[in-house]
Amino acid sequence: MSGLSDAMMQGIGMTSQRTRDRLIERLREQGITDQRVLQVMRNTPRHLFVDEALAHRAYEDTALPIGHGQTISQPYIVARMTQLLLEHGQPHSVLEIGTGCGYQTLILAQLVSQVYSIERIGALYEQAKRRLDELKIYNVELRHTDGSGGWPNRKYRFDRILMTAAASEIPHKLLEQLREGGEMILPFDSGKGQVLLRITRRGDAFETEQFEPVIFVPLLPGVSG
Ligand code: SAH
Repeated sequence: MSGLSDAMMQGIGMTSQRTRDRLIERLREQGITDQRVLQVMRNTPRHLFVDEALAHRAYEDTALPIGHGQTISQPYIVARMTQLLLEHGQPHSVLEIGTGCGYQTLILAQLVSQVYSIERIGALYEQAKRRLDELKIYNVELRHTDGSGGWPNRKYRFDRILMTAAASEIPHKLLEQLREGGEMILPFDSGKGQVLLRITRRGDAFETEQFEPVIFVPLLPGVSG
């Protein structure tokens, strides 16, 4: 990661390493135990993914606006979903639905071999692409399309799928793109609030585990500029 100056990467004041370390401590206290996740989150410059005016809040454990009515996910939930994603062995390929600002994408890119990520809002897609290029991240492919149909024109199957927007129906097209034993992690809105789900492919059957309540922006159909 040499595209940006060291000062920008490391941050100063409210984006300094000490501030980041406090966030990691907080994540630990909340039950994030996977050292790989903690290490990557400690070293990832979240302040580069939010508006400059909000950079001083980048290491608070909170979601922040990224424009277009969307948010960068709360660090705890990024850590939690990433920990669930790595729990049952090392995945190679991960498909993310909802690139947003690209922060979760960058976390994944440092932990698995290949990341594919889809965003429906053109301006966010462009911005995420630029940021990841600047950071010299080469194992991520981005697409500007509706992610509910999965990765376009691809027979390929993924080890993991991570959705960062809440679905109100189980997205079967996405489940079809999981390899045998593969897992999808998603916020699911059953009508009585959102919960985190992990769905595992077992042949043609799918096993569902339910975790804690969460709050995500909704998965929306179609694309937007
Ligand atoms: N992973 C992001 C979270 C972004 S919020 C981060 O770390 O910041 C969720 C994102 O999902 C939004 O950018 C929203 O535009 C996108 N989204 C919603 N519905 C979508 C769909 N059908 N296909 C692709 N992206 C979608």
